[in-house]
Amino acid sequence: MNIKETINYGGLIVSAGEKKTGFAKVLDTDYNFPLTVINGSKEGKTLLITSGIHGGEYPCIEAAIELAQEIDPQKISGQIIIIHPVNISAYYARISYILPEDGKNINRLFPGNPEGTLGDKIAYVLTTEYQDKADFYLDIHGGDIHEYLPPYVYYPGIGENKDALAYAELATNFLNAKYKVKSSATTGAYNSAAIRGIPSLLIERGGRGLWSKEEVENYKNDIKNIMRFLQILPETPISILEKPTLITKAVYLDATTSGCWYPCVKLEERVKKGQKIGEIKDVFGKTLAEYYSDFDSIILFMTTSLAINKDDPIITYGI
Ligand SMILES: [Zn+2]
Repeated sequence: MNIKETINYGGLIVSAGEKKTGFAKVLDTDYNFPLTVINGSKEGKTLLITSGIHGGEYPCIEAAIELAQEIDPQKISGQIIIIHPVNISAYYARISYILPEDGKNINRLFPGNPEGTLGDKIAYVLTTEYQDKADFYLDIHGGDIHEYLPPYVYYPGIGENKDALAYAELATNFLNAKYKVKSSATTGAYNSAAIRGIPSLLIERGGRGLWSKEEVENYKNDIKNIMRFLQILPETPISILEKPTLITKAVYLDATTSGCWYPCVKLEERVKKGQKIGEIKDVFGKTLAEYYSDFDSIILFMTTSLAINKDDPIITYGI
């Protein structure tokens, strides 16, 4: 690894020891996302952080905005690239899940397609111009506007480079997450990066369209600890006393019908095998569907909106 005299991300050309902010244009479109490019004064790894692939996940977006301002290029070894947020049109429209321009969930489009719609192009640019130049990739999320979840970390389970997978899993020990899950998905931004051999993690925190100073501070502390783990920040990483609980088995329930969603459990509640966890009724109050836990489990994620559409996620439980 050598000191990088200049780096170029999204047209921002940044010399060693400097930081620049601006907007990066996506291929031939009018779409521009905000980013901060920090080139350290010493040699080191390149960390990519993407926030707000879903535009209503506020704690991660605010954490990314604050970190981008706080990090001093003179004090880091390596490079930090922060996008805050990726899905800026959903952010301003206050729309969950999707990119308003094409109605697609960007996180299902990786590694992207330069000939596709805007979402495909954004995924393609993030893959080729950002992920492929990174030594480590953090994709930060949260519960969306109508979702709620405890602090989580997902680490990839699929990828040819076993060392990269092991390195990402090792990094989970430096996060203040309550739960960690090994993911077997392939199209998520961090899954796609892992498949190509880049150590990557997805972190989640908060939800319900809210954000607090405390959540943002916790998020920033987690990310700074990963920076210490990567030796981008000089201090030794803070050891976390309560390591995340590994979830080995999880059920992701989707709504089988549209209607009104009535969960009858709380987040992180322990439920028994066969216990009812929620139901969907129509707008006249008639029960359309009931949902039960298949085994003794903990409620790990839930949708909090009354309105529910068929195939939307409603609850995740696991052990
Ligand atoms: Zn998300």
